[in-house]
Amino acid sequence: MISDCVDLHTHSTASDGSLSPPQLINLAAKIRLKAISITDHDTIEGCVEAVDTAAHSPVEVVPGVEISADARPGGMHLLGYLISLGDSDLTGLLGRLQEGREKRNQEMVRRLNDLGIDIIYDEVLSASGGGQTGRPHFAATLMNKGVVRSFNEAFIKYLGRDCPAYVGRFRPSPAEAIHAIRGAGGVAVLAHPSTLERAVPHTFESVLRDLTEQGLQGMEVYYPDHGPRKTARYEALARRYKLVATGGTDFHGQAKPGIYMGVGRGEMRIPYAVVETLKACRRENITGLP
Ligand code: AMP
Ligand code: FE
Ligand code: FE
Ligand code: ZN
Repeated sequence: MISDCVDLHTHSTASDGSLSPPQLINLAAKIRLKAISITDHDTIEGCVEAVDTAAHSPVEVVPGVEISADARPGGMHLLGYLISLGDSDLTGLLGRLQEGREKRNQEMVRRLNDLGIDIIYDEVLSASGGGQTGRPHFAATLMNKGVVRSFNEAFIKYLGRDCPAYVGRFRPSPAEAIHAIRGAGGVAVLAHPSTLERAVPHTFESVLRDLTEQGLQGMEVYYPDHGPRKTARYEALARRYKLVATGGTDFHGQAKPGIYMGVGRGEMRIPYAVVETLKACRRENITGLP
């Protein structure tokens, strides 16, 4: 039984998940989760769409977003929980992220054309089926057209960082993302810290300390890729830096096979108490826990 449990990291069709916001909420109700957060990449459109369904569901929907921030090397994802969906500074920042993605996509089509590949943007758009369009849809299109034989080959030859068709896109600094989340009344949380640690293995703790000085309030300690040792280490770091320890599965539906809502690969259980802690954090607008 997973009643009284939550999943604070899920993606809908508004970004790169395979289920629509109402389908996510219905699935959560079916498996008896008490709350979920829809944390789409760089958009709150799924959360806005979820409001109506949520009003008629036993499942509480925690407004959320996952912002891609600029961190070198690698990248950094920052979760914003309990944000106000109408905040103009936050929606402005998300608008800049969407525009940046659109511009980058068009530039990538030009680069592919320059490389002699016959591809038009409409083909890529139809691969995304109306959701957020990105490199995975370029890969699918290149595969469908027989330019590459596999998804991986598309990234290795054309789309990966340092490849000839790769174009970067606008990302705010971590401080700017944290500021926008907190300005919208939300709680700023570092998503899947293991990804960041992989990029900066020797300086991870000092990067985390800098983030807390910039206003970070939580860290996603419980995550499918974190085994017992990593989980214990992130729990200790969360205590040291007075961060709320949150958790979620990063559920993308069919788009990320093997990850199930609420339980990850089967082992995760996130108690509702985490949502209460986030609410207390939001109310007090404090940098961490007392
Ligand atoms: P975008 O946000 O459009 O730059 O696309 C990023 C997405 O592309 C990631 O979330 C991954 O799903 C996918 N991706 C990035 N790099 C690779 C890679 N080397 N191999 C396969 N998929 C990748
Ligand atoms: Fe994703
Ligand atoms: Fe992420
Ligand atoms: Zn995610």
